[in-house]
Amino acid sequence: MRVGILGAGQLGQMLALAGIPLGMRFDFFSPTPSASAAAVGNVIIGEYDDIAALREFARNVDVVTYEFENVSSDAVAEIEQMCPVWPPRSALVTSQDRGLEKQEFARLGIPIAPYRLIDSLADLESAIRDVGVPGILKTRRFGYDGKGQVRITARSDAESAWNALGPVPLIYEGLVEFERELSVIAVRSADGKTLCYPVAENHHRDGILRTSFAPADRLSDAKRHQAESYARALLTAFGYVGVFAIEMFDTASGLVANEMAPRVHNSGHWTIEGAETSQFENHVRAVCNFPLGECAPVGYSAMFNLIAEHPDTASVLAIPDTHLHLYGKSERSGRKLGHVTIRSRTREDLQRHVASLRAIPRIV
Ligand code: AMP
Repeated sequence: MRVGILGAGQLGQMLALAGIPLGMRFDFFSPTPSASAAAVGNVIIGEYDDIAALREFARNVDVVTYEFENVSSDAVAEIEQMCPVWPPRSALVTSQDRGLEKQEFARLGIPIAPYRLIDSLADLESAIRDVGVPGILKTRRFGYDGKGQVRITARSDAESAWNALGPVPLIYEGLVEFERELSVIAVRSADGKTLCYPVAENHHRDGILRTSFAPADRLSDAKRHQAESYARALLTAFGYVGVFAIEMFDTASGLVANEMAPRVHNSGHWTIEGAETSQFENHVRAVCNFPLGECAPVGYSAMFNLIAEHPDTASVLAIPDTHLHLYGKSERSGRKLGHVTIRSRTREDLQRHVASLRAIPRIV
Protein backbone atom coordinates (compact mmCIF):
# COMPACT_ATOMS: atom_id res chain seq x y z
CA MET A 1 0.00 0.00 0.00
CA ARG A 2 1.25 3.51 -0.85
CA VAL A 3 0.54 6.17 1.77
CA GLY A 4 0.71 9.89 1.00
CA ILE A 5 1.55 12.23 3.85
CA LEU A 6 0.93 15.97 3.76
CA GLY A 7 3.91 17.43 5.59
CA ALA A 8 7.40 15.98 5.85
CA GLY A 9 8.69 16.50 9.36
CA GLN A 10 9.62 14.09 12.12
CA LEU A 11 6.06 12.84 12.57
CA GLY A 12 6.06 11.79 8.93
CA GLN A 13 9.42 10.11 9.41
CA MET A 14 8.14 8.09 12.39
CA LEU A 15 4.90 7.17 10.56
CA ALA A 16 6.97 5.74 7.71
CA LEU A 17 9.33 3.93 10.08
CA ALA A 18 6.25 2.22 11.55
CA GLY A 19 4.55 1.48 8.23
CA ILE A 20 7.47 0.20 6.16
CA PRO A 21 7.63 -3.17 8.01
CA LEU A 22 3.90 -3.59 7.27
CA GLY A 23 4.67 -3.36 3.56
CA MET A 24 3.64 0.28 3.15
CA ARG A 25 5.60 2.81 1.12
CA PHE A 26 5.47 6.58 1.64
CA ASP A 27 5.25 9.76 -0.44
CA PHE A 28 5.46 13.12 1.33
CA PHE A 29 4.19 16.47 0.08
CA SER A 30 5.86 19.57 1.46
CA PRO A 31 6.67 23.13 0.42
CA THR A 32 10.28 22.66 1.57
CA PRO A 33 12.80 19.81 1.30
CA SER A 34 13.04 17.71 4.45
CA ALA A 35 15.84 15.50 5.66
CA SER A 36 13.47 13.80 8.16
CA ALA A 37 11.14 12.46 5.48
CA ALA A 38 13.73 12.05 2.70
CA ALA A 39 15.37 9.31 4.79
CA VAL A 40 12.23 7.14 4.58
CA GLY A 41 10.33 8.04 1.40
CA ASN A 42 9.81 10.23 -1.62
CA VAL A 43 9.41 13.96 -0.97
CA ILE A 44 7.38 15.88 -3.54
CA ILE A 45 7.98 19.62 -3.26
CA GLY A 46 4.96 21.83 -3.82
CA GLU A 47 2.85 24.55 -2.28
CA TYR A 48 -0.36 23.49 -0.54
CA ASP A 49 -2.37 25.59 -2.99
CA ASP A 50 -0.68 24.14 -6.10
CA ILE A 51 -3.55 21.99 -7.36
CA ALA A 52 -1.56 20.41 -10.19
CA ALA A 53 1.23 19.34 -7.80
CA LEU A 54 -1.30 17.97 -5.28
CA ARG A 55 -3.03 15.96 -8.03
CA GLU A 56 0.32 14.53 -9.10
CA PHE A 57 1.01 13.53 -5.48
CA ALA A 58 -2.44 11.97 -4.96
CA ARG A 59 -2.34 10.06 -8.26
CA ASN A 60 0.35 7.70 -6.96
CA VAL A 61 -1.03 6.85 -3.52
CA ASP A 62 -3.85 4.70 -2.09
CA VAL A 63 -4.66 6.91 0.90
CA VAL A 64 -3.59 10.33 2.17
CA THR A 65 -3.04 11.46 5.75
CA TYR A 66 -1.27 14.43 7.29
CA GLU A 67 1.30 14.98 9.99
CA PHE A 68 0.52 18.56 10.98
CA GLU A 69 -2.73 20.46 11.12
CA ASN A 70 -1.91 23.64 9.25
CA VAL A 71 -2.67 22.00 5.91
CA SER A 72 -5.29 24.01 4.05
CA SER A 73 -8.73 22.49 4.08
CA ASP A 74 -9.05 23.36 0.36
CA ALA A 75 -5.97 21.26 -0.40
CA VAL A 76 -7.53 18.33 1.46
CA ALA A 77 -10.85 18.82 -0.38
CA GLU A 78 -8.97 18.67 -3.69
CA ILE A 79 -7.24 15.42 -2.75
CA GLU A 80 -10.51 13.88 -1.52
CA GLN A 81 -11.66 13.91 -5.14
CA MET A 82 -8.93 11.38 -5.92
CA CYS A 83 -8.45 9.14 -2.89
CA PRO A 84 -9.54 8.73 0.75
CA VAL A 85 -8.09 11.25 3.23
CA TRP A 86 -7.98 10.42 6.94
CA PRO A 87 -8.45 11.84 9.60
CA PRO A 88 -11.63 13.55 8.35
CA ARG A 89 -11.56 17.16 7.19
CA SER A 90 -14.07 18.16 9.90
CA ALA A 91 -11.50 17.32 12.62
CA LEU A 92 -8.77 19.17 10.73
CA VAL A 93 -10.90 22.30 10.29
CA THR A 94 -11.96 22.30 13.95
CA SER A 95 -8.38 21.93 15.17
CA GLN A 96 -7.24 24.84 12.99
CA ASP A 97 -9.32 27.36 14.92
CA ARG A 98 -9.15 27.54 18.70
CA GLY A 99 -12.64 29.10 18.66
CA LEU A 100 -14.21 26.16 16.79
CA GLU A 101 -12.31 23.76 19.02
CA LYS A 102 -13.69 25.34 22.19
CA GLN A 103 -17.22 25.35 20.73
CA GLU A 104 -16.95 21.64 19.92
CA PHE A 105 -15.63 20.80 23.39
CA ALA A 106 -18.48 22.78 24.97
CA ARG A 107 -21.09 21.17 22.69
CA LEU A 108 -19.94 17.73 23.88
CA GLY A 109 -19.96 18.78 27.53
CA ILE A 110 -16.16 18.71 27.85
CA PRO A 111 -15.01 21.25 30.48
CA ILE A 112 -12.91 24.16 29.16
CA ALA A 113 -11.44 27.41 30.48
CA PRO A 114 -13.72 30.46 30.26
CA TYR A 115 -13.03 32.25 26.97
CA ARG A 116 -14.12 35.01 24.60
CA LEU A 117 -13.45 35.41 20.89
CA ILE A 118 -11.58 38.64 20.14
CA ASP A 119 -11.65 40.67 16.93
CA SER A 120 -10.81 44.13 18.28
CA LEU A 121 -9.21 45.94 21.21
CA ALA A 122 -12.71 46.73 22.50
CA ASP A 123 -13.55 42.97 22.46
CA LEU A 124 -10.40 42.29 24.45
CA GLU A 125 -11.17 44.96 27.03
CA SER A 126 -14.65 43.59 27.60
CA ALA A 127 -13.34 39.97 27.64
CA ILE A 128 -10.83 40.89 30.35
CA ARG A 129 -13.71 42.42 32.33
CA ASP A 130 -15.88 39.29 31.88
CA VAL A 131 -13.28 36.54 32.27
CA GLY A 132 -10.90 38.40 34.59
CA VAL A 133 -7.10 38.24 34.92
CA PRO A 134 -4.74 36.47 34.72
CA GLY A 135 -5.47 35.14 31.25
CA ILE A 136 -3.84 34.24 27.96
CA LEU A 137 -4.47 35.91 24.63
CA LYS A 138 -3.86 33.51 21.74
CA THR A 139 -4.14 33.63 17.98
CA ARG A 140 -7.06 31.48 16.90
CA ARG A 141 -5.22 30.04 13.92
CA PHE A 142 -1.68 28.87 13.12
CA GLY A 143 -0.37 28.88 16.69
CA TYR A 144 1.98 26.10 17.76
CA ASP A 145 4.56 25.39 20.43
CA GLY A 146 3.44 28.42 22.46
CA LYS A 147 3.84 30.82 19.51
CA GLY A 148 1.18 33.49 19.11
CA GLN A 149 0.40 33.75 22.84
CA VAL A 150 0.63 36.61 25.33
CA ARG A 151 -0.13 36.44 29.05
CA ILE A 152 -2.29 39.19 30.49
CA THR A 153 -1.97 39.94 34.18
CA ALA A 154 -3.63 43.36 34.40
CA ARG A 155 -6.39 45.21 32.52
CA SER A 156 -3.79 47.74 31.41
CA ASP A 157 -2.02 44.97 29.39
CA ALA A 158 -4.88 44.92 26.86
CA GLU A 159 -3.50 47.43 24.37
CA SER A 160 0.06 46.08 24.22
CA ALA A 161 -1.25 42.48 23.94
CA TRP A 162 -3.63 43.46 21.13
CA ASN A 163 -0.79 45.29 19.34
CA ALA A 164 1.49 42.25 19.74
CA LEU A 165 -0.93 39.71 18.20
CA GLY A 166 -3.70 41.63 16.37
CA PRO A 167 -5.30 42.41 14.04
CA VAL A 168 -6.09 38.71 13.41
CA PRO A 169 -8.80 36.57 15.06
CA LEU A 170 -7.79 35.98 18.67
CA ILE A 171 -9.15 34.19 21.74
CA TYR A 172 -8.81 35.28 25.35
CA GLU A 173 -8.81 32.44 27.90
CA GLY A 174 -8.79 32.54 31.66
CA LEU A 175 -5.57 31.11 33.08
CA VAL A 176 -6.29 27.63 34.45
CA GLU A 177 -4.69 26.86 37.80
CA PHE A 178 -3.52 23.36 37.12
CA GLU A 179 -1.57 20.81 39.12
CA ARG A 180 -0.14 19.27 35.98
CA GLU A 181 -0.77 18.79 32.29
CA LEU A 182 -2.01 15.50 30.85
CA SER A 183 -2.81 14.15 27.43
CA VAL A 184 -4.65 11.17 26.14
CA ILE A 185 -3.94 9.67 22.75
CA ALA A 186 -6.61 7.54 21.16
CA VAL A 187 -7.02 5.72 17.88
CA ARG A 188 -10.20 4.90 15.98
CA SER A 189 -10.57 2.52 13.08
CA ALA A 190 -12.98 2.87 10.15
CA ASP A 191 -15.39 0.39 11.81
CA GLY A 192 -15.56 2.60 14.92
CA LYS A 193 -13.35 0.58 17.24
CA THR A 194 -11.65 3.02 19.63
CA LEU A 195 -8.64 2.37 21.85
CA CYS A 196 -6.90 4.75 24.27
CA TYR A 197 -3.25 4.78 25.30
CA PRO A 198 -2.45 5.32 28.97
CA VAL A 199 -2.68 8.99 29.93
CA ALA A 200 0.67 10.83 29.79
CA GLU A 201 1.86 13.58 32.14
CA ASN A 202 3.50 16.40 30.18
CA HIS A 203 5.88 19.19 31.15
CA HIS A 204 6.18 22.30 28.98
CA ARG A 205 8.62 25.18 29.06
CA ASP A 206 8.07 28.37 27.05
CA GLY A 207 5.00 26.68 25.54
CA ILE A 208 7.08 23.77 24.13
CA LEU A 209 6.68 20.18 25.32
CA ARG A 210 9.87 19.10 27.08
CA THR A 211 9.05 15.77 28.75
CA SER A 212 6.26 13.21 28.95
CA PHE A 213 5.86 10.47 31.52
CA ALA A 214 3.54 7.53 30.91
CA PRO A 215 1.49 6.00 32.34
CA ALA A 216 0.88 9.18 34.40
CA ASP A 217 1.56 8.55 38.10
CA ARG A 218 -1.12 9.12 40.77
CA LEU A 219 -4.02 9.29 38.33
CA SER A 220 -7.35 8.18 39.77
CA ASP A 221 -9.49 5.76 37.76
CA ALA A 222 -12.22 8.41 37.71
CA LYS A 223 -9.95 10.96 36.01
CA ARG A 224 -8.60 8.37 33.60
CA HIS A 225 -12.15 7.44 32.59
CA GLN A 226 -13.01 11.11 32.26
CA ALA A 227 -10.01 11.73 29.96
CA GLU A 228 -10.84 8.71 27.83
CA SER A 229 -14.51 9.66 27.61
CA TYR A 230 -13.59 13.11 26.24
CA ALA A 231 -11.40 11.54 23.55
CA ARG A 232 -14.10 9.01 22.66
CA ALA A 233 -16.81 11.67 22.45
CA LEU A 234 -14.73 13.75 20.04
CA LEU A 235 -13.71 10.76 17.90
CA THR A 236 -17.32 9.64 17.57
CA ALA A 237 -18.52 13.17 16.77
CA PHE A 238 -16.00 13.51 13.94
CA GLY A 239 -16.49 9.95 12.58
CA TYR A 240 -12.74 9.88 13.04
CA VAL A 241 -10.19 7.46 11.57
CA GLY A 242 -6.59 7.56 12.80
CA VAL A 243 -4.73 8.75 15.90
CA PHE A 244 -5.99 11.72 17.86
CA ALA A 245 -4.67 13.61 20.88
CA ILE A 246 -6.33 15.79 23.48
CA GLU A 247 -4.32 17.89 25.94
CA MET A 248 -5.82 18.64 29.33
CA PHE A 249 -5.14 20.44 32.59
CA ASP A 250 -5.43 18.37 35.76
CA THR A 251 -7.02 20.67 38.34
CA ALA A 252 -8.37 20.29 41.86
CA SER A 253 -11.90 20.35 40.46
CA GLY A 254 -11.33 17.91 37.59
CA LEU A 255 -9.93 17.83 34.08
CA VAL A 256 -10.14 20.88 31.83
CA ALA A 257 -9.53 20.38 28.09
CA ASN A 258 -6.99 22.66 26.42
CA GLU A 259 -6.61 21.59 22.82
CA MET A 260 -6.83 18.68 20.41
CA ALA A 261 -4.61 17.47 17.58
CA PRO A 262 -5.99 15.40 14.66
CA ARG A 263 -2.73 13.51 14.23
CA VAL A 264 0.02 11.62 16.00
CA HIS A 265 1.28 13.75 18.88
CA ASN A 266 4.58 14.60 20.53
CA SER A 267 3.25 13.43 23.91
CA GLY A 268 2.82 9.97 22.35
CA HIS A 269 6.37 9.42 21.13
CA TRP A 270 6.99 7.22 24.17
CA THR A 271 4.61 4.63 22.67
CA ILE A 272 7.31 3.53 20.18
CA GLU A 273 9.01 1.57 22.94
CA GLY A 274 6.51 2.00 25.78
CA ALA A 275 3.34 0.48 24.30
CA GLU A 276 2.42 -2.79 22.59
CA THR A 277 1.73 -0.88 19.36
CA SER A 278 3.08 2.63 18.78
CA GLN A 279 0.84 5.59 17.96
CA PHE A 280 2.58 5.73 14.57
CA GLU A 281 1.85 2.10 13.72
CA ASN A 282 -1.75 2.42 14.89
CA HIS A 283 -2.24 5.55 12.82
CA VAL A 284 -1.07 3.87 9.62
CA ARG A 285 -3.03 0.73 10.50
CA ALA A 286 -6.18 2.83 10.95
CA VAL A 287 -5.86 4.94 7.79
CA CYS A 288 -5.01 1.84 5.71
CA ASN A 289 -8.04 0.03 7.15
CA PHE A 290 -6.09 -2.67 8.97
CA PRO A 291 -7.03 -3.96 12.46
CA LEU A 292 -5.66 -1.85 15.33
CA GLY A 293 -2.95 -3.07 17.70
CA GLU A 294 -3.16 -3.06 21.48
CA CYS A 295 -2.36 0.22 23.28
CA ALA A 296 -1.36 -1.37 26.60
CA PRO A 297 1.82 0.00 28.18
CA VAL A 298 5.05 -1.98 28.30
CA GLY A 299 6.76 -0.84 31.52
CA TYR A 300 7.15 2.82 32.51
CA SER A 301 8.32 5.45 30.06
CA ALA A 302 9.79 8.93 30.04
CA MET A 303 10.27 10.92 26.84
CA PHE A 304 12.63 13.90 26.57
CA ASN A 305 12.53 16.21 23.57
CA LEU A 306 15.91 17.31 22.24
CA ILE A 307 15.50 20.98 21.49
CA ALA A 308 17.89 23.38 19.70
CA GLU A 309 21.10 21.36 20.32
CA HIS A 310 22.08 17.69 20.01
CA PRO A 311 23.46 15.96 23.11
CA ASP A 312 26.40 13.58 22.76
CA THR A 313 24.99 10.37 21.25
CA ALA A 314 27.32 7.97 23.07
CA SER A 315 26.52 9.54 26.47
CA VAL A 316 22.79 9.12 25.86
CA LEU A 317 23.09 5.54 24.64
CA ALA A 318 25.27 4.60 27.64
CA ILE A 319 22.23 4.95 29.92
CA PRO A 320 20.32 1.68 30.41
CA ASP A 321 16.80 1.38 28.92
CA THR A 322 17.40 4.37 26.65
CA HIS A 323 16.31 4.81 23.01
CA LEU A 324 17.45 7.71 20.84
CA HIS A 325 15.50 9.12 17.88
CA LEU A 326 17.12 11.85 15.76
CA TYR A 327 15.18 13.60 13.03
CA GLY A 328 18.08 14.54 10.73
CA LYS A 329 17.65 18.28 11.33
CA SER A 330 20.27 20.97 11.82
CA GLU A 331 20.50 22.83 15.13
CA ARG A 332 18.37 25.95 15.54
CA SER A 333 16.87 27.79 18.49
CA GLY A 334 13.56 26.27 19.61
CA ARG A 335 13.69 23.46 17.04
CA LYS A 336 12.77 19.86 17.94
CA LEU A 337 15.78 17.83 16.76
CA GLY A 338 14.93 14.46 18.24
CA HIS A 339 13.77 12.72 21.37
CA VAL A 340 14.97 10.19 23.90
CA THR A 341 12.69 7.60 25.46
CA ILE A 342 13.64 5.68 28.58
CA ARG A 343 11.45 2.63 29.10
CA SER A 344 12.05 0.72 32.35
CA ARG A 345 10.50 -2.23 34.13
CA THR A 346 9.85 -0.30 37.36
CA ARG A 347 9.24 3.34 38.27
CA GLU A 348 12.35 3.24 40.48
CA ASP A 349 14.57 2.15 37.56
CA LEU A 350 12.97 4.83 35.42
CA GLN A 351 13.70 7.55 37.99
CA ARG A 352 17.32 6.48 38.28
CA HIS A 353 17.90 6.49 34.52
CA VAL A 354 16.05 9.79 34.11
CA ALA A 355 18.42 11.35 36.65
CA SER A 356 21.41 10.06 34.63
CA LEU A 357 19.93 11.47 31.42
CA ARG A 358 19.29 14.86 33.01
CA ALA A 359 22.98 15.07 33.98
CA ILE A 360 24.01 15.05 30.29
CA PRO A 361 24.72 18.50 28.81
CA ARG A 362 22.05 19.84 26.47
CA ILE A 363 19.27 17.65 27.91
CA VAL A 364 16.67 20.05 29.32
P1 AMP B 1 -1.32 25.67 23.81
O1 AMP B 1 -0.63 26.19 22.60
O2 AMP B 1 -2.75 26.13 23.93
O3 AMP B 1 -1.17 24.19 23.96
O4 AMP B 1 -0.54 26.30 25.04
C1 AMP B 1 0.81 25.97 25.32
C2 AMP B 1 0.99 25.85 26.82
O5 AMP B 1 0.65 27.09 27.47
C3 AMP B 1 0.09 24.82 27.48
O6 AMP B 1 0.62 23.53 27.37
C4 AMP B 1 0.07 25.35 28.91
O7 AMP B 1 1.28 25.04 29.57
C5 AMP B 1 -0.01 26.83 28.72
N1 AMP B 1 -1.42 27.29 28.65
C6 AMP B 1 -2.15 27.46 27.52
N2 AMP B 1 -3.41 27.86 27.80
C7 AMP B 1 -3.51 27.94 29.14
C8 AMP B 1 -4.56 28.29 30.07
N3 AMP B 1 -5.79 28.68 29.64
N4 AMP B 1 -4.28 28.23 31.39
C9 AMP B 1 -3.05 27.87 31.83
N5 AMP B 1 -2.03 27.54 31.02
C10 AMP B 1 -2.23 27.56 29.69
